[in-house]
Amino acid sequence: MRATILHAPGDVRVEERAKPTIQNPTDAIIKVTAACVCGSDLWPYRGADSVAEPVPMGHEYVGIVDEVGAVVKNVKVGQFVIGSFFASDNTCEICQSGYQSSCVHREGVGGAQAEYMRIPLADGTLVATAELPEANKIASLLAASDVLGTGWFGAVAAEVGPGKTVAVVGDGAVGLLAILAAKQLGATRIIAMSRHEARQKLAREFGASDIVKERGDAGVAKIRELTDGLGAHCVIEAVGTQESMMQAIRSTRPGGHVGYVGVSHDVDLPGLELFFSHVHLHGGPAPVRDYLPHLIELILNGTINPGLVFDLELPLEDAAEGYRAMDERRAIKALLRP
Ligand SMILES: [Zn+2]
Repeated sequence: MRATILHAPGDVRVEERAKPTIQNPTDAIIKVTAACVCGSDLWPYRGADSVAEPVPMGHEYVGIVDEVGAVVKNVKVGQFVIGSFFASDNTCEICQSGYQSSCVHREGVGGAQAEYMRIPLADGTLVATAELPEANKIASLLAASDVLGTGWFGAVAAEVGPGKTVAVVGDGAVGLLAILAAKQLGATRIIAMSRHEARQKLAREFGASDIVKERGDAGVAKIRELTDGLGAHCVIEAVGTQESMMQAIRSTRPGGHVGYVGVSHDVDLPGLELFFSHVHLHGGPAPVRDYLPHLIELILNGTINPGLVFDLELPLEDAAEGYRAMDERRAIKALLRP
């Protein structure tokens, strides 16, 4: 089969690899219908994460079940399924409390940018749709696999709800879909922080009421200006850098909540400033599995259209161009069709 492999920073190739096989009786093999390039794939692509050996890439996927292990009972061959980037049993105490991405049996799911992939703990990880979805829903269902679920967790962690003013730091796919999530969760006012016109337009379409172009201290000052000097109730951090994290914390009012979902890279929090900020911090890898049934329903009944974040669609063979386009910020998010 064809699969996308990162050999070194900047060096992504689509090449021939062995088709994955069932390794544990709880596994499933799926034929990938669509996959995509994640903002977090850019960390190793840019050399921010080391690449010790060639790595199969991709952790966002929708597909058709091709084969199941002996004990798998919740999904069947031929069903259309969506899963998340962490496999979870969905039965342990941590899963039951809504933190499937910290399941006691958690396993990473990888190699999605390929024709086939192996899904561990298939019963807990995958959600099947009742029937094969229409072609125009595929992109949105794929978004639910990570970026929508992650933006949703950012909004939940930031305690978004009616009457709340929400600020979103980061205008990548996760930040944009955090805006959509905040809107669905009933936020009264949503401030998007973005300097890019195409992304501002999508932010408005997803429900942003205000746009702040400034970042860093100037961005914080602007948020305070828009909130009677107090800061936002809820701030979603969707980047993962020192600057974005401090921008999020400083944009939050005392008693407010930061939901941080950007994968943290060299973030160092100043203890004394945090102590006096009176800000709640919650975040981490999103328990996407917890939200999947609800998100799938909202997509299939036409309430939301998160697939709009894909502004580039390529055949799998051209995966390297997807990485380049996202790295150069020519594309928000690239969808790959095997
Ligand atoms: Zn679990």
